[in-house]
Amino acid sequence: MKRKQFLKSLALLPLIGSTMHLRDLNKMTSNMSNTGKMPVLFLGHGSPMNAIEENEFVEGFRTIGRSLQKPNAILCVSAHWETRGTFVTAMNNPKTIHDFGGFPQALFDVEYPAPGSPDLALETQKLITKTHVELDHKWGLDHGAWSVIKHLYPNADVPVIQMSIDYSKPGRHHYELAQELNSLRHKGVLIIGSGNMVHNLRKVAWNKLHENYAFEWATEANETMKKHILNGDHQKLIDFKSQGTAFDLAIPTPEHYIPMLYALGLKDENETVRLFNDKAVGGSLTMTSFIAG
Ligand code: ZN
Repeated sequence: MKRKQFLKSLALLPLIGSTMHLRDLNKMTSNMSNTGKMPVLFLGHGSPMNAIEENEFVEGFRTIGRSLQKPNAILCVSAHWETRGTFVTAMNNPKTIHDFGGFPQALFDVEYPAPGSPDLALETQKLITKTHVELDHKWGLDHGAWSVIKHLYPNADVPVIQMSIDYSKPGRHHYELAQELNSLRHKGVLIIGSGNMVHNLRKVAWNKLHENYAFEWATEANETMKKHILNGDHQKLIDFKSQGTAFDLAIPTPEHYIPMLYALGLKDENETVRLFNDKAVGGSLTMTSFIAG
């Protein structure tokens, strides 16, 4: 039974309706499959410390999480899983990967025990015709995934799979690969690209990492990217390597930028984009994120 029909039939039962509270209704419906179309997200994840710190960006992730219907599952394309070829995690219980060094023990102690979804991995493998997708049983959830998803779903009660980024492929490949995943959105799957639009670690002003501070070129790149995103001018974003100096400085290596191309590829033409967390930190990183739906 569809959710709407279910709610309608419930309304026709005056006896139950008169004694049932909203929270009971929520409890009953929370176990039902999500049959609605999910939006698509690009999340600027920034420092791994965002996993355990309280700041405006974390609050931004929480606000988005609260605004969404609970998905049946999440498929995340993270900047931190680069491979030759394309893989999807297919284990029942992905481990929390602490893929960083030099951070406090508290960050290494974080576990995000969301289940996996071998079924969704298999479905994703079948859906993609552009390239062969391999099922992976070794990876897990890297910090590009768990450091942000934990703020959306703190109870770790939504199954999560990751899809890797084939580093040998150009922007257009990733954009088109994303398009092949579109039907998953109609099955209650929340697809998240997790990276950073402007991400140049070599140029970070470390003393300004906790300030909203951007170098001029970072502001220029961020503003231009936003303009193209809002105007639906995807071609220029796909051809990011030929957009001039500001883009070259913003994207010295493409792994943090490419997850954004996945989110764009998954956006339907008639859908709107809403930006959030649109701020820079440390001069050369932007946290700019968006939801399309
Ligand atoms: Zn990162």
